[in-house]
Amino acid sequence: MYRPKLAIVVPCFNEQEVLHETARQLKRVLVNVIQEGLVCDSSKIIFVDDGSRDDTWKQIEAERAASSYITGIKLSRNFGHQGALLAGVFTSVKWSDCVITIDADLQDDVEAIRELVLRHLEGAQIVYGVRRSRTTDSVFKRTTAQAYYKLMRKAGIDLIYNHADFRLMSTRAVRELEGFEERNMFLRGIVPMLGFKSDVVYYDRKERFAGATKYPLKKMMAFAFNGMTSFSVVPIRFVSIVGFLSFLLSCLAGAYALIEKLLGHTESGWTSIIISVWIIGGLMMMSVGLIGEYIGKIYWETKRRPAYIIESDLLQDGYDS
Ligand code: UDP
Ligand code: MG
Repeated sequence: MYRPKLAIVVPCFNEQEVLHETARQLKRVLVNVIQEGLVCDSSKIIFVDDGSRDDTWKQIEAERAASSYITGIKLSRNFGHQGALLAGVFTSVKWSDCVITIDADLQDDVEAIRELVLRHLEGAQIVYGVRRSRTTDSVFKRTTAQAYYKLMRKAGIDLIYNHADFRLMSTRAVRELEGFEERNMFLRGIVPMLGFKSDVVYYDRKERFAGATKYPLKKMMAFAFNGMTSFSVVPIRFVSIVGFLSFLLSCLAGAYALIEKLLGHTESGWTSIIISVWIIGGLMMMSVGLIGEYIGKIYWETKRRPAYIIESDLLQDGYDS
């Protein structure tokens, strides 16, 4: 019978307040699924320290010393949530059969891990953890998130509704993910593009166990915008359409102005000139800015910079068998 080696990847950025509790809960869940015979005994929890400035790494080392189920990877600096996820996933895939990614703050339900594994055993290559409700999020976060998913759908981007980065991927799926050459990976958009048999597990998202969010509004907006422009040229097309419509409008306005002049009703018109100058100017700036976004993307992609750099890997450094 297939008993996969499971890797549970946990990105951590300044998570010293929650790390011990997270390790305790994950260990309990892992030991349970091992005892049930669902996953292999050499499965592990991998904490990825994303350049934390607090004692996160020290704690990871302590957890590692206390349990053979725990190991860690330290990135050389802060690469961001997606970078940390990729580092964990691509490192663990070398020895694991499937990998689950989960946030460090216990917002995702650790009990759902068992369900993710069961769905994988039933044949799913990718299993998405999906929030049943968003009651623990603020009204603002909820409404903006909902609007965002709708917008992305309209732009033809296949996002799983209310799914963040809590998911299981088989080694097979991760290997295909490695084939995506882009550096700026927006996993929520890319993973559904992999295809394969996939499944969904519902869970209730909880409050953060301790510590503050590492995603303030500014970062959230950058993340959302990045997701949009990484996957779609619809925004750029939208600008061309608006540009074209405004051109048509200005033709009509021009014709109108000419008629007025021929009829001798000139003199007026200052307001309309000012307004059109502003509108056109605004549209131009909007278009140029948006085009700049895409050029910026090309700029970053052509650099081929790595999405993460590993400073030390406890598994490779000989700590672990
Ligand atoms: N995180 C990370 N690097 C960062 C920011 C966040 O590894 O630069 C991790 C963080 O430790 C957590 C997860 O990403 O495990 C999600 O972050 P957070 O809970 O702060 O986001 P929220 O749930 O508020 O959207
Ligand atoms: Mg969180």
